[in-house]
Amino acid sequence: MTQINFKNQRYTVTANNDVLTTLLDAGEKIPFSCRTGSCQNCLMKATQGTPPETAQVGLKDTLKAQSYFLACQCYPQENLEIDLPNTIDTRYKSRVLEKQWLSDDVIQIKLARPKNFNFRAGQYLTLWKDEHLARRYSIANLPDSNELEFHIRVFPQGQFSSWAAYETLENNFLEIQGPIGDCFYLEDAIDADLVLIGTGTGLAPLQGILSDALKAGHRGRIDLFHAGLNPHSLYNTDLLTKYASEYDNVFYHPCVLDKAGVVDSRVEYLEGDISDVVFEKFPSMVGKKVYLCGDPNLVKKLKTKTFLLGANSQDIYADAFEPSHC
Ligand SMILES: Cc1cc2nc3c(=O)[nH]c(=O)nc-3n(C[C@H](O)[C@H](O)[C@H](O)COP(=O)(O)OP(=O)(O)OC[C@H]3O[C@@H](n4cnc5c(N)ncnc54)[C@H](O)[C@@H]3O)c2cc1C
Repeated sequence: MTQINFKNQRYTVTANNDVLTTLLDAGEKIPFSCRTGSCQNCLMKATQGTPPETAQVGLKDTLKAQSYFLACQCYPQENLEIDLPNTIDTRYKSRVLEKQWLSDDVIQIKLARPKNFNFRAGQYLTLWKDEHLARRYSIANLPDSNELEFHIRVFPQGQFSSWAAYETLENNFLEIQGPIGDCFYLEDAIDADLVLIGTGTGLAPLQGILSDALKAGHRGRIDLFHAGLNPHSLYNTDLLTKYASEYDNVFYHPCVLDKAGVVDSRVEYLEGDISDVVFEKFPSMVGKKVYLCGDPNLVKKLKTKTFLLGANSQDIYADAFEPSHC
């Protein structure tokens, strides 16, 4: 018999009982549906202890790496502390270290990384302006630094982004919450070909994922497509060009709808709709690991096309930057 700890309550999992049944019998409200491990509605996370591999069958590698498991398939071999996904309630106070413009409408903000705050490059956090306003932003840097780097597109009417761009934030404290998300690099994909496609500030998580892959000594090919309306809407071109010149397996493809007004003649811009440009280059996506971030409509379109061109659905990682409804 093993013990599980859920919301500070301890439950005993009796022989032949699974975690879902144990919690439901105790009156806990856990989402579930099929009870056969297919629907994944009863997804939970072990915050302490290791869930059995049989409870992780069918989950994405990134979820397995974060100790997610299916409660209906979980017959624990050891005591576990468990939680539902996205109930990471802790908020941390984080000092704003610096802010700078990366392009006409994108700012970079660096926050101090709170002690013991762990994350994977490419995951996202909730940033709180005050008690009433919060937005999600992806982390663009590696966890081996004492900073958290964000790229924020500034909308003239944007409640968070305009405030962040035009208020003096340096040395103020923001509350942050998370991390969330499964858009990050996994070391067991070291030989796989990676295709990273981002629009606008969708570059932020991809920059983190690229840095993580390079740090791990990634051996497969890495193609990074960064799309924008025109050359002025792309940023960090120097950094990405440098990566591509330093690493034989890194290919940087800045892609714009209209090349007019090229800012840097050393950068070779591709012209056209990103979804045409990518798939002209890669008519087959079989065997590739694909990361898609940014504009929700484009992420959806690219996801479908990537799948239809042969990528395994388990190998497609996507963060759609859905606008907030409050
Ligand atoms: C998982 C996730 C990760 C994200 N990561 C990032 C990130 O790394 N960088 C980043 O810049 N954003 C990111 N976002 C989007 C971000 O959370 C906000 O939605 C965005 O910054 C707008 O917030 P706001 O308060 O400035 O605008 P709001 O006050 O929410 O919106 C006000 C007005 O701004 C305009 N607007 C807002 N969003 C859009 C849009 N998408 N397209 C067109 N017009 C819009 C509209 O006119 C809208 O009426 C992410 C979203 C999600 C869900």
